[in-house]
Amino acid sequence: MQLRTLSSADLKGKRVLLRTDFNVPIQDGVVQDKTRLEGSLPTLRFLIEQGCKIIIATHLGRPKGKPDPEFKLDAVAKELSSLLDAPVSKLNDCVGPEVEAAVSAMTEGQVVLLENLRFHAEEEANDPAFAQALAKLAEVYVSDAFGTVHRAHASTEGVAHLLPAYAGLLVEKEVKVLSGLMENPAPPLCLLVGGAKVDTKIGILEKFLEIADLFVIGGALANTFLKAQGHDVGASLYEEDKLDVAQKFLEAAKGKTVLLPVDAMVSEEVSETAKVQTVNVSQVSGALKILDLGVKTVELYSAALKKSKTIIWNGPMGLYEMSPFATGTQAIAKAVAESGAVSVLGGGDTIDAVHHFGYSGKEFTHLSTGGGAMLEFLEGKELPGIKVLLV
Ligand code: ADP
Ligand code: MG
Repeated sequence: MQLRTLSSADLKGKRVLLRTDFNVPIQDGVVQDKTRLEGSLPTLRFLIEQGCKIIIATHLGRPKGKPDPEFKLDAVAKELSSLLDAPVSKLNDCVGPEVEAAVSAMTEGQVVLLENLRFHAEEEANDPAFAQALAKLAEVYVSDAFGTVHRAHASTEGVAHLLPAYAGLLVEKEVKVLSGLMENPAPPLCLLVGGAKVDTKIGILEKFLEIADLFVIGGALANTFLKAQGHDVGASLYEEDKLDVAQKFLEAAKGKTVLLPVDAMVSEEVSETAKVQTVNVSQVSGALKILDLGVKTVELYSAALKKSKTIIWNGPMGLYEMSPFATGTQAIAKAVAESGAVSVLGGGDTIDAVHHFGYSGKEFTHLSTGGGAMLEFLEGKELPGIKVLLV
């Protein structure tokens, strides 16, 4: 897989449309997690050095295809400007005559941020006219939005057919690390998966039947597998319509090691002040909800991680957003960090969790900026936003 990279691009003084993934949490007008903004800085600095006029395009949240004050990008422009130590002006739209006038008046090295792409339904529909309107703004297209390369949207796919298209430094690094990981992973390779939805994880579980030595399953995902094995999971979150999928996987994985929880932290209540108790998985019933790994499970999983030489982790081990149910995920993060294995983590919530526990990221080999994108890349799927960047 060979990408067209910035080093091969003629960029001097050009107007560049840079697609980033600045889908960040914002509260009271302040960006709460800067990781994604920081991730784009190397590309931004590179383009500034080349004297480019940089027009940044991103989405934020799910504004349903029309302008919504809640999802405006003013806070993002402000934070980015402070990280870059340079002015970043935010425009009021992402296409149209006013935007065209503003970008044609740009000077070399200047940075502007277009308003939320998803204020237009045409973005997610990959509408050709909308892609054309975006392409009109620039001479070159650079994609640094790894988190959205699995989506064929106007700004991630459509526009790349209309301008010379290159991978930014972040996309280049993600592709390098993830393909390197798949080329020759040091055994034993452990696939550690948690989170909530079977649909988004089953693809990688099935794909890794050929590759992984060990599967470690936690989070609400594990509840569906436990239920498929015949356990009562009480009032826990699980997916009734995915029991057959879970069962099929467990059968196909015979001969491999698949670890499922042996005990769990349960509660009837989901709150910051919930009373929790640890029980064996055979003791769950009625109104009890499995919300985190139990102590024995943490020990079992940690020992397995310690023996692994390569670990791929996606999905928290419990409802980590609330402190009574965060200890399992925290203990597993510690086990991964201390394993000495090559460790690659991805997923919005997974990365959020490890940051929340105080890890900077250096404790792991690679924190991917992709959740769905990382999983689909590792599954070997063709990603529309990567395909358009290939040589
Ligand atoms: P990622 O964003 O890392 O890919 P997911 O979005 O798949 O992860 O899953 C994260 C969500 O799963 C979190 O909101 C977390 O609270 C939830 N979750 C994990 N375990 C449980 C559980 N036992 N019960 C309910 N929710 C859970
Ligand atoms: Mg998530």
